[in-house]
Amino acid sequence: MTETITLTHHIAGRERAGAVGFEQRNPAAPDDLLIRGPQADTALAAEAVTSARGAVATLEAAGIEARADALARIGRTLVANVDRLALLIARETGKTLGDSRGETMRAARIFDFFAGETLRNVGERYDSTRPGATVEVDYAPVGVVAAITPWNFPIAIPAWKIAPALAFGNAVVWKPSEISSATAAALMEIIADSGLPDGAVNMLLGAGPAGKAMLDADDIDAISFTGSQATGDLIRAGAAARSRRVQLEMGGVNGLIVMGDADLDNAVECTVNGAFFAAGQRCTATSRIIVEHSIADRFIDAVRARVSALKVGDPRDPAVHIGPLAAPRQKELIARQVAGLENNGMKPLFGGAAQPLDHCFYAPTLFDHVPVDSQLTHEEIFGPVAGVYRVGGFEEALQALNGNRFGLSAGICTRSLLYTEQFKRRARAGMLMVNLPTAGVDYHAPFGGTAASSYGPREQGRAARTFYTAIRTVYQKPL
Ligand code: NAD
Repeated sequence: MTETITLTHHIAGRERAGAVGFEQRNPAAPDDLLIRGPQADTALAAEAVTSARGAVATLEAAGIEARADALARIGRTLVANVDRLALLIARETGKTLGDSRGETMRAARIFDFFAGETLRNVGERYDSTRPGATVEVDYAPVGVVAAITPWNFPIAIPAWKIAPALAFGNAVVWKPSEISSATAAALMEIIADSGLPDGAVNMLLGAGPAGKAMLDADDIDAISFTGSQATGDLIRAGAAARSRRVQLEMGGVNGLIVMGDADLDNAVECTVNGAFFAAGQRCTATSRIIVEHSIADRFIDAVRARVSALKVGDPRDPAVHIGPLAAPRQKELIARQVAGLENNGMKPLFGGAAQPLDHCFYAPTLFDHVPVDSQLTHEEIFGPVAGVYRVGGFEEALQALNGNRFGLSAGICTRSLLYTEQFKRRARAGMLMVNLPTAGVDYHAPFGGTAASSYGPREQGRAARTFYTAIRTVYQKPL
């Protein structure tokens, strides 16, 4: 029997119902779960922003210890509920149970990390050039932060926006993706029970128009967005027109170089993990595998063997390595993109249109002999699809790696110190991986890309303070 979950917005500490505006089903088993949620409009969005504005003062009055305690409590509650949340993520978004558990634990650690940061918001003091006077610098809250999040990390990405926003004294209006709203509502419930003042975090549900309605509201000070480049470009333009602080984390078409001297087993592991795990639905996934001729045939045979040992299936089954895509619209998009490549004469080594699967499942797909000017180089395919580019040596590999407008994550598999050093200096990406998959980052280090992949200050770790605080310089002369 289908379980139906009906969701509500959350504004000023209260649940707010509305007419059904969107639906999401379990992408692996549509009869298992139906999620229904309302669609926020401009009036509701304005109310949420007003509620957040009121909470900025309440948060300041509550003090840093109360905020640190609340963030630590959220972290502990996430850990205590990890099994329940992981199952919900798996059923709602198709992420494997193992990945869903891992992501929930990561979200818990993020709240824990920022509980500590709440107490470490250290300022500076200078002697003034004017004798007797002093200069103090402090890092004040920005005010009301609008957070917009995608579905592919439905609990970790909200965590790495909401936790630092609160740590540094801001209030939040949050619009999660309509594909992962039940997970968002579960996190919202935990946040609401953490002891934070009402209105510190408000959640508006719905698809793109709900996000637009939120950003149309007056009185937003800053916008933190993660999602596609097309949406990010719209948001940046709107933020610029209204002089709002903005931070955008967007897509990538990330490359991994495999040099002839690489450890073959490790290079295969990095490739398969980066390209196909999480069904390729990670912004840091490997889409372009740039391989030196000397190793290419052996490498491809080994990748094929490794992929054939992977189990694609229901993400609730602990033996499954790869779940489905998150929604029918994602499958349609990826099928269209792969058909475009096939129509241009490219034939996959495995997967693609020749290997159709049920529901939202999509077979791991690998193209070989991809030309550098292929569409695969320039357009993100947010699924388990990658291409091999064969190159003659390091310089050609680096040129191919840097040959598109993105710059999120890049990797190299090599034993050479020279190639490693050259790669670290010359690869154009915000995150560089040596003998590691392009996907998979730590929560206490800065996260973000360059070029078309990112805009604005970095997220996560201590770097998060730059976006979530406003520098205040105070000159003072005692009389
Ligand atoms: P998306 O851009 O379609 O949606 C992201 C969010 O923006 C959703 O909440 C959506 O409802 C909202 N939105 C859509 N239109 C809007 C508008 N006009 N105004 C305001 N909000 C709007 O992206 P998606 O499909 O949810 O996520 C996948 C994309 O996210 C991929 O491109 C992936 O690379 C990217 N991503 C990037 C990172 C990163 O950190 N760089 C991390 C994860 C995902």
